[in-house]
Amino acid sequence: MQIRHHRLQSSTPGTTRELVSLHYGAPDHGRKAYLQASLHADEVPAMLVAHHLRLALCQLEAAGRLRGEVVLVPAANPIGLAQQVLRQPQGRFDLGSGENFNRHYPDLSLPVAEALRGRLAPDPSAQAAQVRAAVREACAALPAGDELASLRRTLLTLAADADLVLDLHCDNEAVLHLYTATPLWPAVEPLARRLGAPLALLATDSGDDPFDEACSMFWPRLAARLGPEGAALPLGCVAVTVELRGEAEVDHALATQDAQALIGYLADRGFIDAPTATGRDAGGPPAAPLARPLDRPLAGSMPVRAPHGGVLVHLEKLGSTVRAGDPLAELIDPLGGASTVLSSPVDGLLYARASRRFVSAGTLLAKVAGAEALRAGPLLSA
Ligand SMILES: [Zn+2]
Repeated sequence: MQIRHHRLQSSTPGTTRELVSLHYGAPDHGRKAYLQASLHADEVPAMLVAHHLRLALCQLEAAGRLRGEVVLVPAANPIGLAQQVLRQPQGRFDLGSGENFNRHYPDLSLPVAEALRGRLAPDPSAQAAQVRAAVREACAALPAGDELASLRRTLLTLAADADLVLDLHCDNEAVLHLYTATPLWPAVEPLARRLGAPLALLATDSGDDPFDEACSMFWPRLAARLGPEGAALPLGCVAVTVELRGEAEVDHALATQDAQALIGYLADRGFIDAPTATGRDAGGPPAAPLARPLDRPLAGSMPVRAPHGGVLVHLEKLGSTVRAGDPLAELIDPLGGASTVLSSPVDGLLYARASRRFVSAGTLLAKVAGAEALRAGPLLSA
């Protein structure tokens, strides 16, 4: 394993931060998997899973079982990790700009199309290698005028030429669920099964350019820009955002299980040689066949927001299948004594809900994944 330190562009004199990446295996097989934890810095379950991944990858490397390169960034957001307001961690938004750390990743298909137009090799496998080289050049040319831009450039440089990108997050309180690009779902479903995730939310354009789509949707966007010349380009990157349940679920048993599932998926994708032993050996099959996860349009994920402030009492268990009109939560005005019952807007799976128990008007209280795409515009919550 090789440890690399990436110094970020300093925004103010006297301050410097760095990103650390761990590199396993060898790049000479030409394939690369990239995993990062806690891009939203206070989503801690991901960092614990990365800790367990680190141990597992070291063992696999020592056993000579890695095929290709596996890059692990165990804490993807040193800026956010340092942010606190009144002793409360603030890891989702950059306090300087107000920007979400998982939005606004640049669309590399434009510079790469300009670089490759009229130059693509006839052989599709040679084309993919050509594209990855051009992506690396495009990343190197990205502006990094401040620390946040420098963080985005560094992360994208590490990930954008990978075949597989797993971006590990969590929600407030939630069941394990995934976000991925719609055309990738057949390749991602085995990951959902290994993780025991009951739900995957699919979109081709979530809005505001999250990290996973910058890596995966780059390929079809590039093909579209190149027209007939790019018709043979593959979907060269499988990228997934993995939501590892709720923010308080920092638990060794869960993290070990999740790390094992991710290692198993790396084996599915050809990054780890088949195990010599059966059972729950890293890279082996899941212990038992898992139920088929629901794939639902991200545009069918329906938010329930607080119409006024008050004490929040959840009325339905996470992971419940609910019907439109079923009561999900009660909001109580502690001064006037009135209460409002909030109901599910659709039939679907109650997969995430707020962790705070006193909320102000407009707070996102719950999310229900329905079957019908009812929303448009930016589809991810702020
Ligand atoms: Zn997140």
